[in-house]
Amino acid sequence: MGLSQFAAISCSLIIIVAALPTYVQQHPVYDPGTPSTTYVRYADECFQFSEEQVREMITEKAGFHEIQCPNCTMGHQGAQLVWDPTHPNQVKCKYCGMVYPNDKYPTDKVYEHQAPTGEIQQYPYYERKDGFHHFFQAKIDFHARYWLADKAYYCALAYWLTKDVKYARRAVVILHRMAEVYPHLPIHGLSDYSFRRPMWADNEPPHPYLSQKLGSTWFYSEIHTGMVRAYDILHDSGEFEKLSEEVGVDVKQMVRKDLIEGLVEFTLTQQRWISNMTPSWSSKLIVAGRVVGKPDYVHEGVNMLRKTLNEQFFADGVWKEGAISYHSQTAGGLRSAFSLAVGHSDPEGYTFHQTGERLDDYDPFAVETFLQMRLSCRRSWWAWSQSPILMAYIAVYTTHGPGQKLSQLLRQGPHCCGAWAMPAWNRRPARWLLKHNCTSPAHTATLMPIRSI
Ligand SMILES: [Zn+2]
Repeated sequence: MGLSQFAAISCSLIIIVAALPTYVQQHPVYDPGTPSTTYVRYADECFQFSEEQVREMITEKAGFHEIQCPNCTMGHQGAQLVWDPTHPNQVKCKYCGMVYPNDKYPTDKVYEHQAPTGEIQQYPYYERKDGFHHFFQAKIDFHARYWLADKAYYCALAYWLTKDVKYARRAVVILHRMAEVYPHLPIHGLSDYSFRRPMWADNEPPHPYLSQKLGSTWFYSEIHTGMVRAYDILHDSGEFEKLSEEVGVDVKQMVRKDLIEGLVEFTLTQQRWISNMTPSWSSKLIVAGRVVGKPDYVHEGVNMLRKTLNEQFFADGVWKEGAISYHSQTAGGLRSAFSLAVGHSDPEGYTFHQTGERLDDYDPFAVETFLQMRLSCRRSWWAWSQSPILMAYIAVYTTHGPGQKLSQLLRQGPHCCGAWAMPAWNRRPARWLLKHNCTSPAHTATLMPIRSI
């Protein structure tokens, strides 16, 4: 899923968590509220394809996001070749216009890989002189898969809003096909952060940090909450049962076991060390656990959030990495992730095997003391960070460390802040200072640790 799509889902969804006095799993666990009609328009787009075409587009093979254009060096990472559903069997470079596959860069070599389910899969590729393997078809497969995964969620929302069963049917067809292919998808991803070549991994854990099955980046992205929520919304629509009669399998169980639990279990092979992505991972564990009735997942998520909150912030409430952007991401992510667990109650008689704990009508904002304290600090942080020069100071400091002349660094231009590598939010202060010519002697402060400000 692209960042813009993720943001659209995250910002637009109204999450109302039903408080359940006892463990009676009612669906939807997460009430979608009144979805925007925009989702109906998004959902309608997938009806340009028949059900049969949809099933063909969701392949059993690995998909790679970061396949480069061999014809030019513009752009970066996976942002050169784009996929368009109006031409679903090709990708096109948005810089040089080259369309793939083509005869100029023939995919005349084949990589063979054994899938987790045992069969040998074949992946044709074009090999560049430096050894980069351009898996154009896998790039196509990647985009088609995620486009349809998102459509499952949009169709579920469209059904919720319009009650038109065609949307529920289409979403269930997509989820069923995803559940069919998921066990076959190989573990693959990126070679490393710098060169970002396609990487293939063994089927048995431990899996590399930069690996996935559904996608091809890192395990944090594996659980597609859109599909989990589509299952939640459509659970009682009757469409799972209708499709089950047609295909002769229990489609609802298949989606729950082979897809949603498969997504979660893949991530749980990873170590639980804490990072600024932990809240994101935890939130997905909590949502999936509540939706499919697996309290272990909820506890895994909650416990990682607690560890993040209690052990990884400085005493003044600032996230350990010292960057405003990461602080904002982590502190905001914590609050958002905890909110997804509000009202959760474990099944009767259940305790989490690792801790012996059980949750009943859980309200983290009432019982997790540090959550209130940290968020108070966060508000304070934001209040005084409204000063552009102070924000610039911190942005430069976090890149260059203490002992540097701020003015000298700023005269080097935006790159003084490592702008290419920093989130846009962090670049603004440097731009502000440059725009206002704030490199005068009045701004020649030597960078010092933040605590001395
Ligand atoms: Zn190109």
